[in-house]
Amino acid sequence: MSEAPILKDTTRSSGREALQKNIQAAMALSEAIRSTLGPKGLDKLLIDDDGRTLVTNDGVTVLETAKVEHPVAKMMINASSTQDRIAKDGTTSTVILAGEMLQNAWQLILQGIHPSTIARGYRKSEQHVLECMHELLMKSNDEIRKTVVKTSLAGKGYNSMQEIIANVSLDAVKMVAEEDNSVDISKIKLISQTGGKVEDSRVFRGLMLPKKRISSDMEKEVVNGKILLVDGGLENKNVSTDLKLNVTSVGVLESFRQEERKLLFEQVDKMVKHGITVLACRESIDDDVKNYLTKVGIQAFRRVARSDLNMLARVCNARLVHSVQSSSKNDIGEYVVSKNVTMDGKDFWIVEGEGKAATIVAKGSTVDIIGEVERCFDDSLGVSVQLIEDGLVVCGGGASYVALARRLRRYAETIPGREQLAVEAYADAIEVIVRVLAENAGIDPISTLLDVVAEQTNTNSDQIGINLELGKPQNMADLGVLEPQGIIKQALIGATEVAISILRIDDVLWAKQEMTMPDLPEEDM
Ligand code: ADP
Ligand code: MG
Repeated sequence: MSEAPILKDTTRSSGREALQKNIQAAMALSEAIRSTLGPKGLDKLLIDDDGRTLVTNDGVTVLETAKVEHPVAKMMINASSTQDRIAKDGTTSTVILAGEMLQNAWQLILQGIHPSTIARGYRKSEQHVLECMHELLMKSNDEIRKTVVKTSLAGKGYNSMQEIIANVSLDAVKMVAEEDNSVDISKIKLISQTGGKVEDSRVFRGLMLPKKRISSDMEKEVVNGKILLVDGGLENKNVSTDLKLNVTSVGVLESFRQEERKLLFEQVDKMVKHGITVLACRESIDDDVKNYLTKVGIQAFRRVARSDLNMLARVCNARLVHSVQSSSKNDIGEYVVSKNVTMDGKDFWIVEGEGKAATIVAKGSTVDIIGEVERCFDDSLGVSVQLIEDGLVVCGGGASYVALARRLRRYAETIPGREQLAVEAYADAIEVIVRVLAENAGIDPISTLLDVVAEQTNTNSDQIGINLELGKPQNMADLGVLEPQGIIKQALIGATEVAISILRIDDVLWAKQEMTMPDLPEEDM
């Protein structure tokens, strides 16, 4: 075949060869994180270019930190990141599920089944399992929600750490939940501090910033007043390069400065006129202005990050202004409380307003621990949001996947032709979660899976999963291993999506350059 000139500088692989390489890459990636799944999963030690190290059990962190070049592997990582964005948890599961779906697809391709037939079968399977999900759902209460958040932290940290992170996350989410239970997670701020134990982590209503008012002569605590947020400062600008002053005598410069000061003081007067009692600036506030602000009774803060100003704006229903002069009545916000507190020798500014907000102060003894605590909060907050918004949960420990696979096998019998084989392959693939959970706990994966399936069928229960301590099937609701339905649903959707997209690629054009392929043991294919 003569290549089109445009393809001259590319290496091309097509058809089955392309598919095989792509599936190998996807499998290699899922192999790489398989061992982190579940409470018995092991940690990975990640070392970056600069030699910095990170110990984590979090699938998406491992994948995002790894410098993966293969485009198909990148597709898998994107699927995991999407899972992280949408469901906050289940990132490892998504990649493992996709890898297994592709491996099973490859077996069918070897038997001569066309990738598009498999893709169609997989799509039908996905639709069917999503339709069946409602049969597995359970409602949650406070107690159950706490259990669910703890399950999401399985394998991370230790019991009392999981306990406090679950409690704090749920409380924070409840603080910002609206009446219709909708939650905007960006209303929760996380501040982390080294020193102290993880168990000392707490949540506060309102927005809390590691800031101190600019003068301790200013009021420490004020209530029910007006606040102005300036996306700039109250300072004499240095004479800049585009402005040239010909100073003819010392007096001129002095009067120039005085004029500037006068303008700044006028801005303070304007604030007083509008009844403003709290001021936050992104830039600095000059010392004489500070004294004047103190005199007129305005509590002021400087060098507040813009992201924090934006949060303050939402809490106090205010709008950021570029300068005091340009502010109008509508820009001014209202606070309920604005107070300065000291905790463990550190200063904080707490603001409460009509708009909802919560701040979590996460603690840990070392930078490494704090890092892992932050990642745990990230997961558990996401899970808490789902629980407050939706509240429907399903059994974890592989139970739900097995229950769905059982339904799929019955459904497969109704599908004529080769697609039936794809539906069966999909059912086999989603059972992988039980196998890997067992594998990581040092239990025989195959017999564990068979035991769980048998127990579900014999007791006609969808709640039987694997008790990893005993290596035996058990009711996961009794064991308190529960997950928000959204995580499993999203993991299935994400995995199916990426598996199908990879199956649809039959031509790969590489620009001629060094590219590394992940290695995979031959016998796996
Ligand atoms: P992911 O990134 O996919 O969330 P995790 O490492 O967090 O991966 O593992 C989640 C899996 O571990 C879920 O399938 C969950 O049901 C399971 N799991 C968590 N705790 C237990 C437990 N005590 N017993 C059995 N399975 C558990
Ligand atoms: Mg998890």
